[in-house]
Amino acid sequence: MRKCASSINPKICPFCKKENLCEAHIPNNNCWCNTIQVPKDLRVLIPQELQMKACICQSCILAFKENKEEFIKEMSI
Ligand SMILES: [Zn+2]
Repeated sequence: MRKCASSINPKICPFCKKENLCEAHIPNNNCWCNTIQVPKDLRVLIPQELQMKACICQSCILAFKENKEEFIKEMSI
């Protein structure tokens, strides 16, 4: 069974569903995600179909780093 790819928006954070403001798709970009380290623990929580497709937004990364358990509870993942 094939999943409909049109439902994937690379600009929407997989966790909070807000715009991730990622510019990684633009050549010579200066995106914040080039310098920030996304914790591996957080990346494994991204739904499979969105992995390597949609970026996590900065606020979700920071929230996760601050309080992992609380973040997981809030996003109900
Ligand atoms: Zn987010």
